[in-house]
Formats: sequence, structure tokens, C-alpha cells
Amino acid sequence: MKSPIPLFVLICLTAIFTVPIAFADSTGVAVDIAAIDTATAVATDTVAMIESVIVDESGEQLYPMSPERHERLVSYSKFNSIWRFVSFFIGLAVLALILFTGLSARLRDWVSGIRIKFFAVWAFVALFLLADYILNLPFSIYRSFLVESDYGFMNQTFMEWLGEDLLGLLITAAFMIIPVWFFYQLVNKYRRWWLWFSLGAIPFIVLMAVIVPVLISPMFNEFGPLNDKQLEAEIIALAEQAGIEGANIYEVDASKQSSKINAYVTGLFGTKRIVLYDTLIKYFTLDEIKFVMAHEMGHYKMNHVWQGVGLAILFIMFALWLMNRLIHSVIVRFKNRFGFDSLSDYASWPLVLVFLTVIMFVFQPVTNSFSRHIERQADTYGMEMSGVDGEAAATAFDKLSVFNLSDPNPNAFVEFWFYSHPSLVKRMAFVRGWQPSPETTKP
Ligand SMILES: [Zn+2]
Repeated sequence: MKSPIPLFVLICLTAIFTVPIAFADSTGVAVDIAAIDTATAVATDTVAMIESVIVDESGEQLYPMSPERHERLVSYSKFNSIWRFVSFFIGLAVLALILFTGLSARLRDWVSGIRIKFFAVWAFVALFLLADYILNLPFSIYRSFLVESDYGFMNQTFMEWLGEDLLGLLITAAFMIIPVWFFYQLVNKYRRWWLWFSLGAIPFIVLMAVIVPVLISPMFNEFGPLNDKQLEAEIIALAEQAGIEGANIYEVDASKQSSKINAYVTGLFGTKRIVLYDTLIKYFTLDEIKFVMAHEMGHYKMNHVWQGVGLAILFIMFALWLMNRLIHSVIVRFKNRFGFDSLSDYASWPLVLVFLTVIMFVFQPVTNSFSRHIERQADTYGMEMSGVDGEAAATAFDKLSVFNLSDPNPNAFVEFWFYSHPSLVKRMAFVRGWQPSPETTKP
């Protein structure tokens, strides 16, 4: 689901909680010269170990990586590393525009005629989201449609893409009222509202974690049974071996939107779902798929979802506490420009988002370090569970790099700050050097 703005609850979901359950970092990043050399070395190294060459419909060699594709990987990575900063500032600039032009205050005045306060706030949220969406639209068309098309990921027409983007906006507008309403109720009542808000966010986050895979994701994609029954049997056997019983296994037509590859296992309460992207099934061998799926099952078995939720709550608490310390002086200073003079006025919502965007950006290394830590655990589990050899697992990572154009060896600083997964070069070295621990070795 694409959200037009950084919603603080949803973003904690996506940044901390859903990212760990995906197999691949969906974004590639900066390449320095050393990284390019290593990437080439890795690519040539792999040519020797696989026999099959993957060619797409147009006859372009997809795997192993052709020199043209490698060039594209390098340029995509460079673009992404710059865009991470550009998009951060664009997001802030749009919010600042909405605040400093007094638009936020004007939207609040427009809806003030609605007699029931709850619906007035809801109308404000919807109008604000729409304004934010329109102001961001040129940039989102550029980044999410044009650039993705240029690099050959986009499998949709412009209208299809826009339709889904608007559906995402509609869903956000429908759900956003819950945290916003809750937020202003507490700000008005309690001095320690940040504490109560964080505790109250728990059921909301859990609810979102349950309904997103079951109700929201199917609005965008078809989730069907696996066409390959033999593969399905293998996945079921693997799940049983991992002690995951009664999970539903789905093939999702992710190729409808993009040619990127991924997979996930999700489930809280009775909603266990093992999801394979059709792109994964198409391009990966059985051993590679088994490793990927065992990695996903590792997240599930090791309760990474719950750990993610726990961390999200702590982070929300900290971010709101910090915001509370800083935001009032900004409101006092610019109250004439903003058209509101207190945090308890819901016209302050865009300013709340400014603070949360900055705080989240600054603390990304912390949340990403946690994420990389559990990714390493899942890779270990994947090796133990799937029983595939290190070379097959390494090829899975190499293919990810090639198909998703993700930089296998990013700049160390970029990896530290932005990467939710260890770099592919590190993951490859890890699985190649992996030794089964004595108690898991079977005679
Ligand atoms: Zn993972």
C-alpha cells in the first residue's frame, strides 16, 4: 500500500514492522568505486556456478547480469541514494507550505461548520491528505512511475498506477481518522498524552497488522493458490518442519505492478499467510525458493513481528515525548503564520507530521540496526531449516541483486543509515561461510 504521507502509526508499521518480514530491501543505494568492483566480481563469480541463463520475453538476458544491466544497477543505486534525501526534503517542504500559507488553518475553518466534532476532524484529515497528495503528485509520478518505468520495473500503464495510488489515498483517508482523533482527544485531556497515546496505539497497530494482509493487500492484488503443486507440497513440508501448521499458502500476482521479487510470511492470531511473489516462483530454483521461504518462516517462528510491534510502541513513545518537548516553542514562534496557537488545535496536524518525519529520519539508524539484526537471525534460521547449501542461498541473494537492481555492496554509511537488511555481499558471505551448529547437524 502506498501512503501519500508519513503517517506515524502506519510508518512505524512499514518501517519497523513490515520491513523485517520482507526478504529483500526494495531499494538500492549508493555505489562507490570499490562497491562496483565487488559487484562485478560477485557477478562473474556466480556465472561459473549456475548453468542456466534467464532470458526475458524480449530476449534480454536477465541473469547472469549483462554489462548493460550492471550499468543500470549502478545508475539506479546512485539515483536512490540521492532520492532518499531529496524525498525527505520534498515531504517537509510540502508540509511547510501547507503550514506557512495558513492552508491548514483555512481547511479547519472550512470544516468548522460540521456540527459533530468527530466528522469535522475527519473532513479536515481528508482535505489535508488531498492537498498533501496533490502537492506531492508531480514528485510521486516522477519517482514511482517514471523512474520505475525507465529502469524497467513498471508493469502498469499510467492510469492503472494512478488508480492504485488513489485507492491508497482513499484507504489512508478512511483509517487516518483513528490515530488523529485519538491524538487530539489525549492532547486536550492529559499532560502526559504521549504516554497514553503510545499505550493506546497497541491495539491499533495489532489491528492494522491483522487487517492489512487479509483485507487491504487483496484490494491491490490477486492472492491465489500455487499453480505449481509440487512446489506447494515442498513449502507445506517446510512449514510443517518449522512447526507452522495450518498456514495458507498464496501466490500473489505481484508482477502486475512490478517485476521486483519478494516474499513474506505474516500472521497474528488466526491469519497465518505464506506469500510468494509470482516473480520469485518464475525466476528462482526450488532450493533458492526453499531458502527464501525458510528465512520468512524464521521471522514468524522467532516472533519478529511481535518484537517489531514492541519496538514500534517504544519508538512512538519516545518520538512523541521528544516532539512534546520541542513543538510548543515552534507554535508560539509562528502562530500568526500558521493560524493556530496550540497543539490541541487539530490544524496543527501537519506540524506534528513535520516533527515525526524529522525524528524518524534522524533515528532511522537505530530502527534499521534492529531490523538488520533480526534479518541476520532469519538468514541463520533459513540455512538451518532449509538444508540448502550455501551456494544456493548465495545465488538467491545474487538474483535479488540482479532482478531488483539492488546494490550488493552499498557505501557503509548508507547501509548503516538506510538499510533494513544487511548488504547482499555480507549476506552472501555469511551463507557461504555458514556451518550447521552441532545440535542441528543430522547424522
Ligand atoms: Zn527477512
